[in-house]
Amino acid sequence: MPEQHHPDRHRSRQAAPESHGHEHGHSHVGEDLLTVEDAFARIMACFRPLDTESKPLTECLGQVLAEDVHSPLDLPSLANSGMDGYAVQEADIRGATAERPRDLNVIGVVAAGYVSSQTVAPGVAIRIMTGAPIPAGADTVVPFEETDEVQRRAQGLPLDRIGIRAGLRRGSNLRPAGEDVRRGQLVLEAGTVIRPAEVGVLASLGLSTARVIRRPVVSILSTGDELAPAGAPLNPGKIYDANSASVAAAVAAAGGQPRLLGIAQDNLEDLNRRLDHSAGSDLIITSAGVSKGDYDIVKEVLSRRGDVNFWSVRMRPAKPLAFGMLRGPNGGPGTPLLGLPGNPVSALVAFEMFARPAILTMLGRRRLARPTVSGVLAGPIHNADGRRVYARVVVDRRQGTYFATPTGPQGSNILTSMSLANGLAVCPAEITAMKAGETVQIVMLDWNEEVDL
Ligand code: AMP
Ligand code: MG
Repeated sequence: MPEQHHPDRHRSRQAAPESHGHEHGHSHVGEDLLTVEDAFARIMACFRPLDTESKPLTECLGQVLAEDVHSPLDLPSLANSGMDGYAVQEADIRGATAERPRDLNVIGVVAAGYVSSQTVAPGVAIRIMTGAPIPAGADTVVPFEETDEVQRRAQGLPLDRIGIRAGLRRGSNLRPAGEDVRRGQLVLEAGTVIRPAEVGVLASLGLSTARVIRRPVVSILSTGDELAPAGAPLNPGKIYDANSASVAAAVAAAGGQPRLLGIAQDNLEDLNRRLDHSAGSDLIITSAGVSKGDYDIVKEVLSRRGDVNFWSVRMRPAKPLAFGMLRGPNGGPGTPLLGLPGNPVSALVAFEMFARPAILTMLGRRRLARPTVSGVLAGPIHNADGRRVYARVVVDRRQGTYFATPTGPQGSNILTSMSLANGLAVCPAEITAMKAGETVQIVMLDWNEEVDL
């Protein structure tokens, strides 16, 4: 079976039981070599939608509605005008033309937001603005363009009379009460993802809050003696911590609530102290210290604090990965911990493949996969060691065809090549190289507005 380009395809699969005699063998005690799908299934088995909360509508973007919403009112609540014009009785204007206009007496004006106390009787019109309730007696609105209002104004004539220059179907330019939504109607179902349009629909029903599945709190911890926080001076041998910031941004973009735990030095006390600050979070994401060659203080702390496994995933970038449950206080339910690799590109790609779907699941979202497109590769992808490659590419569209151009050196430390990319082109594990011109599947990270798509 060919490898799928996105693990989401396999999300119905049951988590494989933990075993160290895994089919791909293992390269190190406690280190399983897993396919992307296996790692995905094991991780996703630990996540469920969270509990619900009621909160201001304007803060619900991307969250999932937790209850059905029935309308408390008709929308619109009153029949109103769809145009600026004159409210009339259709029978009065039947057969009117530009040459033979029908003159009506204008008895008043009604603007949006006001209800006219006057009645449109035969031979009478009321000037009306878009959105204003239709006055009693009227059944049709004649737009300004179908009247002689402009000519009357030009001639300095008073607007107490108006010539109607066209007959219209009865009901023209009139929006009936309940046209959009009827009182009691199911407007939005539980499970709906709240986008700006849903915010608008709920607000139009007069609602200022919504009951939604709450956002997961995601604690983020960078580890490594070499790391310095942005804004601090950079001493020799040190590097700035990229992952805290990029992972926090990725958490927020996925709809989670990032909580920064800072940088832990590679020692027991600092790691433990900072991990203690993760209490109450729904997911802990660490970076670095999980690969084979690493000084294994991070591994030691994670193993001691819970049931965390260290994996090698058959993918590039982001081969080393840790996942498991950290014990809760006094034996309470634990908190899932995902240990991302330290290299900044690996961290973001592993986040994309494993953390983002987990966060979406906690949010109650059901569609976990990014959209993928099929495109033409515009440069080679090399695959030396039988892992699935996620190559950073910039995708654009020319004459209706997507082209995926690798964004440059693909080292997992080259973060700028991630910044240039809007997609990840997938080279299957068993294919050693892909050439320009070949068809490739591309996971779209975003539909970058700077690129012609
Ligand atoms: P490790 O997984 O600890 O072996 O780290 C792999 C590489 O990623 C090393 O070159 C680290 O210096 C680098 N690295 C680890 N954490 C970060 C971080 N937060 N920001 C930038 N680079 C990092
Ligand atoms: Mg390290």
